[in-house]
Amino acid sequence: MPGSRFPRRTESGLADSIALMSELNLILLGPPGAGKGTQAERLQEDFPLAYIATGDMLRAAVAEGTELGRKAKEHMDRGDLVPDDVIIGVILDRVEGDDARDGFLLDGFPRTIGQAEALEAELRKLGRKLTAVLLIEAPDEEIIRRLSGRRVSKSGRVYHVDHDPPKHADRCDIDGSPLVQRKDDKPETIRKRLDVYHRQTAPLVAYYDERGLLRRFDGTRSPTEVHDHVRATIATLRLEDEL
Ligand code: AMP
Repeated sequence: MPGSRFPRRTESGLADSIALMSELNLILLGPPGAGKGTQAERLQEDFPLAYIATGDMLRAAVAEGTELGRKAKEHMDRGDLVPDDVIIGVILDRVEGDDARDGFLLDGFPRTIGQAEALEAELRKLGRKLTAVLLIEAPDEEIIRRLSGRRVSKSGRVYHVDHDPPKHADRCDIDGSPLVQRKDDKPETIRKRLDVYHRQTAPLVAYYDERGLLRRFDGTRSPTEVHDHVRATIATLRLEDEL
């Protein structure tokens, strides 16, 4: 019953008709702070995809003190990537999970060619394929400006000190918790993360471009403009898939 898997209504109805077609397996690619998380939130309202955000999973593991968290923490605090052998198995398990059967949205994975190859092999084994890789681009100066002003609440609501401040200074509008700066959002760690992105993750742009999967979006545009563009792109891809 493929039609009953995606019952959600949306304003335009466009996403409904798109979602009734085959599974949607998406990757969000781009530097930290380009707006991947914001687009992921919106895409989940359009399509009931399993949202797999590696950064969130790792931060939860660190907070819970699990073995994964213990292995990941020092790398994360330094702004380095967690080693492939620590992260790959965890993410592939999630992709195979029941909730990802009709589609997934990967945010923050893959981040190395090794991770991309492992994902490709796993999907091939499962007889599945990627629908598209959505690359959200933004220049380094813009990223530094955004991330150094980013503050988060206990519940994960994200603010920006200048562009999206809370109503009461340093307190979350929703849960009242004090806002904090992520350790890895300090200026020197941001520069490190950008350097890691350019060295280890940016080669994925060519990797997915060669496979005809890459779609580019201008992350300096407003979240709504980027979202409209992403939706239109997905609609076109699904129509092409039908032909
Ligand atoms: P993010 O919230 O996506 O910026 O991720 C925060 C941190 O988690 C990164 O700086 C890395 O240390 C780690 N991390 C997240 N995803 C991955 C991944 N796919 N591979 C290795 N490390 C990751």
